[in-house]
Amino acid sequence: MKNKTIRFKITLWFSVSLIIVVILSFVSFMTVSKRVVKHTTINVLQEAVEQNLDEVEYHDEMIDDELDFDADYYMKYKDGWLEIDDDYLTLVNGVTCAVYDFAGGTRDLIFGEDPIAAETKNTPFENRQIQNIKIDEINYYIYDRKVKNKGVEDIWIRGVISGEQSAGEITDISKLTVTILLLILLIAIIGGNIIAGRMLDPMKQITEAASQISRGNDLKKRIDIGDGKDEVHRLADSFNNMMTRLDEAFEREQQFTSDVSHELRTPISVIMAQSEFALENGETEEDYIDALGSINRQSRKMSRLVNDMLAFARLGKEKSVYTKESLNLSEICRSICDEMALIGDKNIRLESEICPNIHIEGNEELISRLLVNLIGNAYKYGKENGNIRVELTADRGQAMVSVTDDGIGISEEDLPKVFNRFYQADSSRTDKGSGLGLFMAKEIAQFHNGDIFVESRLGEGSRFFVKIKIL
Ligand code: ADP
Repeated sequence: MKNKTIRFKITLWFSVSLIIVVILSFVSFMTVSKRVVKHTTINVLQEAVEQNLDEVEYHDEMIDDELDFDADYYMKYKDGWLEIDDDYLTLVNGVTCAVYDFAGGTRDLIFGEDPIAAETKNTPFENRQIQNIKIDEINYYIYDRKVKNKGVEDIWIRGVISGEQSAGEITDISKLTVTILLLILLIAIIGGNIIAGRMLDPMKQITEAASQISRGNDLKKRIDIGDGKDEVHRLADSFNNMMTRLDEAFEREQQFTSDVSHELRTPISVIMAQSEFALENGETEEDYIDALGSINRQSRKMSRLVNDMLAFARLGKEKSVYTKESLNLSEICRSICDEMALIGDKNIRLESEICPNIHIEGNEELISRLLVNLIGNAYKYGKENGNIRVELTADRGQAMVSVTDDGIGISEEDLPKVFNRFYQADSSRTDKGSGLGLFMAKEIAQFHNGDIFVESRLGEGSRFFVKIKIL
């Protein structure tokens, strides 16, 4: 059973349940029908006998005016006459009625018919009782009544009806019922099978899509089963969403790998070229020092790149491990400014104006990295004896950090690209960084549902802003 299809299992379960329901319905229907038919048969029998009761009358003498010799039947009875009226029905609705006379100690059939008279000659007469007798495998019902009309004594009417008549009716009903039920069963099973198949069609598509993906690595494949809100549509939607996310993650991964290899290619080429040059053509100590200096710079660049990439990969992969908590942004800013003011690179002065007790919900490690990145860039791209100014303000529920420098600035053309991965505006200074710092800063701002943007003029300086919601 485990290896059978869901469609088969649904159809089987459905069919077995339906067959049970049909059998139970048939049995109850037949039981009720038999009872009703038996009840009706007995009613017909009783009615026929009761109706005939009044048609047997006694007359002391024959008065011509009162008698109808053409229609009624007369016979000698005691000192007078017994009249069987023409309304007496010997055979009606399958019931035969016979008039019996018990006078003189014998039991004589004096009028009408009794088809089982011989077989029931020992069956006693029971007033108002229904008797059930089986003769030659045929069921008969008998109903007896003693006639109580004036002057009439020892006269009985016996009604007999065969149960076969009702059995025939029941057979007809059961045949019709079986045919109808079988037809309904057949239609239900075929219909159920078709509906189960239709319902499971999208499953086939999902399986097909999944195997196509595993065969051909086609992450662009999607399941299209039209509009709907049932379980199967929800499954298809979840599958499509999962595929979209996988596709995006895969593309990001590919892009990252290609960016990384591209970024590493230059320093590796320089290191190889410099070392080969020194080995093959190096003559003076100066040649070797030049080559080693260049190799050292490129190695440092690679080291920075690898470190940044690792930090970035961790940020991308493990965002969930960076928990958020209530942070005093003012204190974080102040302590970073205090530490970084000590750098004193290029004789640059760092001053800050920090609004106290601004709280945000965030991750301290990430927020610190963002600020260090921005202030680090202000030093990196600042001018000799320049200034850096860090401000923290609060406005309309938003904390705003700005880092301003009066350094080389960014051209209008480069401005929209500085937050891109591996983007470096000035290629002549590529050994200063990796091009990942601002990209990471943007990721961190977004992780905090905040924003980062920049204003800058080439040659005049830059101002970076970070906006994060206050707690
Ligand atoms: P890098 O490691 O190169 O600094 P970033 O992502 O931090 O990478 O910055 C990307 C580029 O944006 C830098 O290469 C530089 O050209 C430009 N940039 C960033 N900060 C400043 C700044 N304060 N002044 C001028 N240019 C900047």
